[in-house]
Amino acid sequence: MDKLFYKNQYLKEFEAKVIEVKEFENKYHIVLDMTAFFPGGGGQQCDLGDISGREVLDVYEKDKKIYHVVNERIKDDSIVKCKIDWDRREDGMHQHLGQHILSGCFFKLFNANTVGIHLGKEISTVDIIGQLDEEKMRKAEALANEVIKKGLEVNFLVPSEEELKTMNLRRDLPNTEDDIRVVEIEDLDINACCGVHPSKTSDLRMIKIKRFEKNKGNTRIEFLAGQRAVNDSLNKDKVIRDICNYLSSNEDEALNGIRNLRASLEEIKIEKKKLEEELLEYEVNSLLAENEGSNKSRIINKIFIDKSVEYVTKLANKLSEKDNVICLFAIKNKDKANIILSSSKNIENINMGQVFKEFANIINGKGGGSKTLAQGIGELGKIEEFLNSIYDVCYSII
Ligand SMILES: [Zn+2]
Repeated sequence: MDKLFYKNQYLKEFEAKVIEVKEFENKYHIVLDMTAFFPGGGGQQCDLGDISGREVLDVYEKDKKIYHVVNERIKDDSIVKCKIDWDRREDGMHQHLGQHILSGCFFKLFNANTVGIHLGKEISTVDIIGQLDEEKMRKAEALANEVIKKGLEVNFLVPSEEELKTMNLRRDLPNTEDDIRVVEIEDLDINACCGVHPSKTSDLRMIKIKRFEKNKGNTRIEFLAGQRAVNDSLNKDKVIRDICNYLSSNEDEALNGIRNLRASLEEIKIEKKKLEEELLEYEVNSLLAENEGSNKSRIINKIFIDKSVEYVTKLANKLSEKDNVICLFAIKNKDKANIILSSSKNIENINMGQVFKEFANIINGKGGGSKTLAQGIGELGKIEEFLNSIYDVCYSII
């Protein structure tokens, strides 16, 4: 079988003869006399595409034959028109060569070899021996893009065993009985690989290291190559433009703009906290004054409209710090009410948690709490009835 992808990696369409058809689980596994469909290998995904109007679902190699999996039968001996899904193939070639270039750069710059790769649908990774820092990342990234700019030739060699021994390959040879294929990027890198690569590094246009992290004593680097790197860069450009428009600043000033915003926010937060404390103190005193009664305990029954749960809870806590105060508070929200019930520690014969539970069915309420503080939520409709019922109970006890 002729592997056209090794002869011309840019072949997108071709004609071939069907020489074998195997039916398996309602699918047809087709062998052609020649094919440009790459079956996958070296970490690179297999090609997909179309064979005479039939979608190619998978391509794989077994017993030195390449099988193309389709849904509909194709007759033996027929001549078929084949088309590679070029976006997928090109992306695969670019990520793969991107990995070779990065591996070569790390080896050349820091004598740090590659111990693992993964070419993914969205992001690819290369694992480099040792712990590498930000500075080394940026140096390798700069060299990788320099290598792309230079348009180095990528040669695909099938050396004899004797020739292989004299080649100074970056990594050990794979354990295979097949011919060993070697990818050479001029003086940057030479390594055994069965993948399909572009013929020039300039095809990639760009390599971008997205992030890196420690991984089992090595460094795992996430990268993008080719169109993925270009798209990432264009998207970043848009994000930065939006940020600059929002801040009304240029790119150099954007970070300062964000720092200033944050500083203002911190100031406002401190100011807000101070005002809230003052307001709280004022409201505590005015509620105590309003509820000054003949009874020795004050029962403060109040519904709030536009206050936060946090604020009203603080208010209840502050009031209950005094002796002989019971707070029956609710906050009306759009579709529910928050309830906060509290009592002073010195009031012994009322348990707010129990009281809440006892009357919760009036408002279909959920919640509970301790002797001195109960919190929950319930329906808006009968919130007054709920608080008044609790008021009556408290009034009768204390
Ligand atoms: Zn490769």
